Amino acid sequence: MPEGLPGAEVDAPSPAPSRRRPPPPFRRVTVIRTKPLTPRLYRITLNGSELEGLVVEQPASSVRVLLPSASDGSLVIPRWTGNQFLLPNDERPIIRTLTPRRVDAEKLELDVDVVVHDGGAASAWAEAAQAGDAVAVSGPARGYSIETNEAAQSDFYLAGDETAIPAISQLLEALPPSRPVHVTIEIAAPQAQIVLPDRPQTTISWRHLPEGAPPGETLVAAVADSDLGPQTRVWVAGEAAAVQRIRRHLFEGRGLARNRATVRGYWKYGRAASAGDDD
Ligand SMILES: Cc1cc2nc3c(=O)[nH]c(=O)nc-3n(C[C@H](O)[C@H](O)[C@H](O)COP(=O)(O)OP(=O)(O)OC[C@H]3O[C@@H](n4cnc5c(N)ncnc54)[C@H](O)[C@@H]3O)c2cc1C
Repeated sequence: MPEGLPGAEVDAPSPAPSRRRPPPPFRRVTVIRTKPLTPRLYRITLNGSELEGLVVEQPASSVRVLLPSASDGSLVIPRWTGNQFLLPNDERPIIRTLTPRRVDAEKLELDVDVVVHDGGAASAWAEAAQAGDAVAVSGPARGYSIETNEAAQSDFYLAGDETAIPAISQLLEALPPSRPVHVTIEIAAPQAQIVLPDRPQTTISWRHLPEGAPPGETLVAAVADSDLGPQTRVWVAGEAAAVQRIRRHLFEGRGLARNRATVRGYWKYGRAASAGDDD
């Protein structure tokens, strides 16, 4: 039966594909220095005139880092299709999310600290990076925000795994020095322990993940044992399944008000990241 006549089956109009706000454009940069902070955390310093205007206002924010092609090492800036990045050949580029640990607006430098682990593109890139290597960065995306007068009355509980060390370091630098901060960090190897920024009223507890245990196991246990007062603000980041358990514990188990905690999945066990994971 012809479309539009009574009795004809007319397909409901298909919903328009969802379009997301375009991310900030990629800025081409080059590696100028690399430094192992520990055998498991490499600091890569990026530099380039396109970093001009990159302003990171909040601690624990993020940037997307576009890595060169695994096959030929070329760096091609992808296009934004409305909901993902694609290369001219329609393949997905290698993009990873990292914390912009330090921005030097005068020298046009950006530090990212990358966890070295088995089988990851960013990890392999950080281990092999050399001065002159090209990458591109886009961002920053939102970080941790707290009203100054609220912060002045709060104490803070920060918890994370090795990927959260850069963000926790920034939070330690940014939170009001007069307020107490308790930190728990899970590390998968003793060499991952690092000296964190010094500040008064801070306690730091390192939890060692037993070999073979699922990532986040000691973090989940630590948060469950934590002493959270009525003014405590909580910030947690780490492996996605572990932080999901932490979310349930905090919001359903303890009934913590959602606006008192920021809980973010930073990576997924057994799955390579994709560019939209942190959105
Ligand atoms: C907002 C935000 C900020 C972040 N900041 C940082 C940062 O400053 N530094 C940092 O190193 N990471 C950070 N991460 C996490 C990082 O994006 C992921 O760990 C990412 O998967 C690393 O990419 P890769 O190419 O090395 O591994 P992928 O190719 O994504 O994964 C390959 C395999 O390695 C596993 N894997 C991924 N990460 C780890 C890990 N850390 N330990 C063990 N196994 C892993 C995966 O499960 C997968 O099986 C951040 C994530 C977010 C969302």
